[in-house]
Amino acid sequence: MSNQPMRPFLEAGLARIREIVGEAHVVADPAEVDRRARDIIAEVRRPTAYVYPGDREEVRLIVEAAAEHGLSLWPCSRGRNWGYGGSTPAVDGSIVVNMERMNRVLEVNEELAYARIEPGVSYRQLNEHLKTIGAKLWADCTDGPPEGSVMGNALERGIGETPYGDHFGQLCGMEVILADGRVVRTGGGAPDCKTWNTHRWGCGPVLDGLFSQSNLGIVTEVGIWLMPEPECCRSYIFEIADGVEVGQVVDAVRKLALTNAIQTNIHLINDVVSLSVATQFPRELLGGEPRLTEEMMAGQRKKFGIARWTFGGALYGSREQVRANQRVLRRALRSLGRLTFVSDLQVWAVRLLLRMLETQPEDGLVCRTLDQAIRLTTGKSLPLVRSVPHFHGIQKGIPSEYFLRHAYFKCADRRPESDVNPARDGCGLMWVAPILPMTGHHLDEIIELTAPLFERYGFEHYMALILQNPRSMINLMSIFFDPEDATERARALELYHELVTATSNAGYQQYRTSVLCMDRIFERAGDFQRLAEALKGALDPDNVLAPGRYGIGGGERKEATLDEPPRAATTVA
Ligand code: ADP
Repeated sequence: MSNQPMRPFLEAGLARIREIVGEAHVVADPAEVDRRARDIIAEVRRPTAYVYPGDREEVRLIVEAAAEHGLSLWPCSRGRNWGYGGSTPAVDGSIVVNMERMNRVLEVNEELAYARIEPGVSYRQLNEHLKTIGAKLWADCTDGPPEGSVMGNALERGIGETPYGDHFGQLCGMEVILADGRVVRTGGGAPDCKTWNTHRWGCGPVLDGLFSQSNLGIVTEVGIWLMPEPECCRSYIFEIADGVEVGQVVDAVRKLALTNAIQTNIHLINDVVSLSVATQFPRELLGGEPRLTEEMMAGQRKKFGIARWTFGGALYGSREQVRANQRVLRRALRSLGRLTFVSDLQVWAVRLLLRMLETQPEDGLVCRTLDQAIRLTTGKSLPLVRSVPHFHGIQKGIPSEYFLRHAYFKCADRRPESDVNPARDGCGLMWVAPILPMTGHHLDEIIELTAPLFERYGFEHYMALILQNPRSMINLMSIFFDPEDATERARALELYHELVTATSNAGYQQYRTSVLCMDRIFERAGDFQRLAEALKGALDPDNVLAPGRYGIGGGERKEATLDEPPRAATTVA
């Protein structure tokens, strides 16, 4: 990473930005910038500074200053987009505008079940806020960082767990700052429009999508729909029996989802994913092999009580509704594997047991004996039992760091119990996430396509399938690598690009992508890209906002290459 002296325009621009947000909220020291740019992907672009505005007006003034001084900005909400690029830009030289200080919950409307929030509101904060005010409403979360931004994830079209798990689908009403400094609201209503946060389609063209997975504006406020707390919630875990094809299960799940018996964005995970939740990489087993062989995996499955494929979700409603749906699921899945329902009471009992174990070392006599007893009675292991309360909580919108710990799978250090931060702790993980029509036949095709690539590059084939809607599922593939090992990192990167190419050539688009391949994400969709570029050219001709994000406005800009003074931008107040 470079230590070159700053260009005069950058210096002047940053001086103006310092005036706007205050000295304390600008970080331009190269070493500190490098530290903040750390991510778990194999390569990051280098920003020139991090800026932390405190309110909408400061964001607006920053945009104007950037336009005037020829700078580019990379807006993010809290910058926890780990595995896709955290808070790092798509091109070198952008200034990251992190809005974590703008973290007000502006309104909770209990009657109509929605909230209005700023970008810096995290899952943990929104969840706690709803509890504090006694609202009988749940905010959906992901199984990722509790400190992640509710808005940031929704704008990236991230997926959660409950029936409100399509996060972008829950947004209703956005306030956006455009590249010329104008502030607009989506929805086409007047400023006193009474349905801004209740009627998603508004009146006239629906423009909300322009500000998701794009670089046409900075979103400073959104309305988000919340889930009324149901009378009953029962989570479930389904383990596919040996000998049953996973494609058969996908077909069964689709039918259940289409008829609403499956209401959540269930996660169907293979044994490698389960192993990464249960423990860290058993490097000592390798004995010269580049990756865990099938025989080694079989041993690990036995050791931890892991099925080849597992999925989990939850049922919600009145007690009668949940009971009726339990029967439907049992009937449909009986011949395919083992279904276990988990109630609040059971979770309470597990929590009590785990609390008693808190003071006991994990490899001490008490834990080992209990582990044996659990294995004998259920075939499971203590690490799997430990995950149950976290899994159950997430199904109710209660965020947890527990599953994020899986990012430490190949990390040389032991993973932490709390304060989990894989970017800080030097983990290596990259997501490739094509989306497929929800049929067993498409899943078989994607497995045939990707499994040999993982094998060729010497990585375990990690596969999680997340229901996006009853007709589509996201195939989340993770490449875990040791970032300290330069050869392994290079291999991981090659595999990453091969997976993107292979899935794209087979007709599977990415549901979301990382800064590593945004420049070629529309390679096979030229007309679409040209339309997006035309919109970019009309709204942000100087390419101030997030150049290169999702392959739009790549090209040149700004201070990193600038030798001539930029032309003064016209700003509209
Ligand atoms: P999280 O904290 O949930 O990980 P991020 O803030 O990292 O979310 O958001 C993910 C990506 O979405 C960012 O890198 C940025 O490109 C885009 N983004 C996030 N928030 C905004 C916003 N308020 N306005 C415009 N783009 C945003």
